[in-house]
Amino acid sequence: MTETPPSLEVVAGGCRCGSVRYTLSRNTLPLTYACHCLDCQTWTGGAFSQQCLVPEDSFAVTGDLALFELPGSKGKISYQRICPTCHTRVFNTNSARPGVVAIRAGTFDRSHELDCVAHIWTARKQAWLVIPEGIPSWTGAAPGNELLRVLAM
Ligand SMILES: [Zn+2]
Ligand SMILES: [Zn+2]
Repeated sequence: MTETPPSLEVVAGGCRCGSVRYTLSRNTLPLTYACHCLDCQTWTGGAFSQQCLVPEDSFAVTGDLALFELPGSKGKISYQRICPTCHTRVFNTNSARPGVVAIRAGTFDRSHELDCVAHIWTARKQAWLVIPEGIPSWTGAAPGNELLRVLAM
């Protein structure tokens, strides 16, 4: 009997048209969280946004990117990276969280395998959406580093 070597899972993703592609130097999919705030609903055009946070040095991207800078509270700036062709919002960084990349969960090739382990801004969630019991959730932003802890980041 021959043993099958373990296959290396590739964690990769990209935009809708395929001109932006990224890879993560890790073997497992990162944990994700959902944000139900109105900004995220408006921006995604959906019920919530879902993303993961990964160290910037584990993330490699190819293809042209458009940059959209969004000033936030306390002088923070969110740097949103978008495919200039199909306008998929792929990932962002934030001056308040240097060295961390937030990747939009729906851009992962294996998005159907992702786990969503936390919910924030549930005060603004759509009424039909019921969060499973036992999943960490906050009515607003998660306090301190709670979100990073839950995400094992
Ligand atoms: Zn594209
Ligand atoms: Zn949000």
